This record gives sequence, C-alpha cells and structure tokens, in this order.
Amino acid sequence: MKVSVVKETAPGERRVALVPEAVVKLRASGLDVLIERGAGEGAWLTDDAYAEAGASIVSRADALAADAVLMVGRPDAATVAALRPGQAVIGLLAPLTDPDLVQSLANAGVTAVSIDMIPRTLPRAQPMDALSSQANIAGYKAALVAAAEFGRFFPLLITAAGTARPAKVLVLGVGVAGLQAIGTARRLGAIVSAYDVRPETRTEAESVGATFIELSTVGPAAGEGGYARALTDDERLAQQEELAGHIARHDVIITTAQVPGRRPPLLVTEDALKAMTAGSVIVDMGASALGGNVAGSVPGRTVVTEHGVTIIGASALPSSMSPAASAMYARNVTALLAYLIKDGELAVDVHDELQAGVVITLGGAIVHPALGAPPPPVVEQAAAAEQPSPGAAWQTRQQPPGAQTDEGGRS
Ligand code: NAD
Repeated sequence: MKVSVVKETAPGERRVALVPEAVVKLRASGLDVLIERGAGEGAWLTDDAYAEAGASIVSRADALAADAVLMVGRPDAATVAALRPGQAVIGLLAPLTDPDLVQSLANAGVTAVSIDMIPRTLPRAQPMDALSSQANIAGYKAALVAAAEFGRFFPLLITAAGTARPAKVLVLGVGVAGLQAIGTARRLGAIVSAYDVRPETRTEAESVGATFIELSTVGPAAGEGGYARALTDDERLAQQEELAGHIARHDVIITTAQVPGRRPPLLVTEDALKAMTAGSVIVDMGASALGGNVAGSVPGRTVVTEHGVTIIGASALPSSMSPAASAMYARNVTALLAYLIKDGELAVDVHDELQAGVVITLGGAIVHPALGAPPPPVVEQAAAAEQPSPGAAWQTRQQPPGAQTDEGGRS
C-alpha cells in the first residue's frame, strides 16, 4: 500500500503531514511512503531527510496517485480534480464549514477522512487528536505573540529604574488552547483570569493558575460532546455587556472561543474595545473569514483601533511553529493510519464509532450524519467500542458508516 504526502496549497501554510520519524514508523509497518518534492520545506525538513528515513521523493502527480494521500489542511480544487475513485484523502478537512468541498470529494469518489471530526472523548482516539495537538501549540504561541506585542512587561519586575507591575491577562474560552495560553502567560509572570461558558472549566483554569470569572447574567452553556452550545441572542447580549467590564480591567485579552460548525461567538464588541486602555493587546484565535471573537479582527492581520488597541487576527498560529506542529500532526495521522489499516490495506468497520466519526465521504456519497447523510443503521455500539472488528475494505463497502454517539466529536 502506498501512502503519500503532498505539499500544502493553502497560502502561508508551512506544516507538512509527515515528518521523517513518522516515515520510519510507517515503513516499519510495511507501507511505501511517497513524499512530494519539497513538501517539508516549510517545516525545515529536506527531501534528503525524508529519503534517509525510507521515503521516495516524487512529483505531485505521483504523490496524488497513492492509495492514501495525507495532508494537513484541505485539498484545493486542482488537487481534488487529480484524485481517482477509491483513493483515501486524510487531513483536517473542516467539512462542517465547507459543504462544497465535501460534495466535490464525494463526486470524486474518494474516501475522505477528516481527522478533525475524530470523537475526541473516546480513549482510543487520544493519540489521533490533531485538534488538541494543534490547539496546544496555538495556545502557547498566542501567549508569546501577545507578550511580544505588548509594550510593557508580563512579569512583576523590580529594578533600580523602577518597578513594573505584572500584566493582567484575560483568556476567553478555556478549551485546549485556552488552558495552554493560561499556562504560558502564567509562566511569563502575568496575572491571568479566565472565562468560559462550560462550568467544568473553572477547576481546569484554576489548576493552571488562572482566576476564574463567573458572569451573573449568563448561566452554564455546555453542549454535546464536551463542547459549548451556541448562546441565545439574549444570552449573547448579556454576556457581551457583562464581559465588557472585565475586559476593560485587563491589559491583554486572548480569545479562543469556538462552537462547532458555527461562526465563532463575538465576545469583545466595539463598545468593549472603546473601554480598553490604549496600548492593550488582543490576540483573537477565533479570527476567521466568518468573523471572530473580537469586533474588527481580520484573520492573518494586525489592526490597531482608533483608541489604540492592537488586535491580532491569529488564525494560523500552529503553522507559525511548523516543525513542532508537523511533528505532532504526524504522530496523530500515523496513529489514525495504524488504526485504519488492516492486513496491509485501508479498511473500515461500519460498527466502529471512531471510524464512523472521521469518514465523511465514501463510494461517491456523503456518509457522515453531521453533513446531512441519512440516519445510520442501528448497531451494537457497546460491543464495538473497545474491540473493533476487522471490517470490510473501504472500496467495497455499500452502507454508510454508523453515526457518532453522544460521546461524539465536533458535529
Ligand atoms: P473549542 O475549540 O471548541 O472551544 C474553545 C472553548 O470556547 C471551549 O472551552 C468552549 O466552551 C468555549 N466557548 C464557546 N463559546 C463560548 C462563549 N460564548 N463564551 C465563552 N466561551 C465559549 O474547544 P476545544 O479546546 O476543542 O475543547 C472542547 C472540548 O473537548 C472540551 O470539553 C475539552 O475538554 C474536550 N476535549 C476532550 C478531550 C478528551 O477527552 N480526550 C480531548 C480534547 C478536548
């Protein structure tokens, strides 16, 4: 079986789906590994390093002809056009926000595996949890970017030239990225507060050194699968208004809030920005084309408001640490491949909850319930949970895979 890595096509993307260590591992399990020439350049990985690890360095066309094509992000239209039925494509496809891409993958007849759809709370899915590995990096880098942009110190500094008070940092959204941002800002010496709508985040935030902020006007808003639910309009307005008071009392804000499949919630409004002190810094990790957690943030750009607040639209932080991000992603994707390959070929077990969570197109159809596929057949989930059966070859499977259960992931 041939597994390939293609060079990423998204502008500015520096990550690569496999690193040489992962190639060694895949070769040891009997796979042929093809790397598109120059695929690792953005992560400072040379073709020679891949070749020494046992990979073949090939053209893009040859890489795109492999049985399974690995990538970090989404395939562009030209890449999809080059694929043939029966091939597998594995990447962070973010299908919930791009129905056209999902349809084009189904039309191409490929087996599309979206690693970001993995049911993250399943214990056996943890080594494959690329959302967490990349969010960890993003949270760490967000705190560093904020500290670098902030014109004062993060730590308390007592010097002969005077005393600098520690920065007050507020982290909005305490998921994987938020927790890492809190920990990193604390290690830099800042005083850190945090807020989230999921009540269980209080103890998590406190365990990494933040003071948790509770709002009196907004109750708990936990959704399914460990995620937050979208707030109602009334809740959203109350949240924005009450948060504004807290925001004004902080020097640095790091926002990470997300609701699966939705526009990131707006937490810092125009009015809240106006109430902040000039020189304050905001890192908006929710910045996206749909809008971010902060009014006026632009993905990939830094803007300064007329009141002197710097807003960094930090949408590509993992890519800015491409060597670390690629190494972690490679471990995630290697673990997923090991799970999917049985007897030297890709196979899917329709009763396996993990596989059902990640396969979005198969045999020319969209098969994931979160993408509008028909309800799945009733299956014995309990038996399948810890002992997946060998399963049928992906190319020959007739029925759509089963749905996620309540444990399920980002759907
Ligand atoms: P995420 O990226 O979906 O969202 C980031 C945070 O934003 C979340 O904590 C969410 O509650 C918060 N948020 C959403 N709307 C908000 C709003 N209006 N105001 C304030 N905060 C808001 O989250 P994530 O980092 O992907 O983590 C999601 C969940 O998955 C968490 O429960 C996490 O513990 C869980 N998780 C579990 C495992 C595991 O069990 N192995 C692994 C990874 C993540």
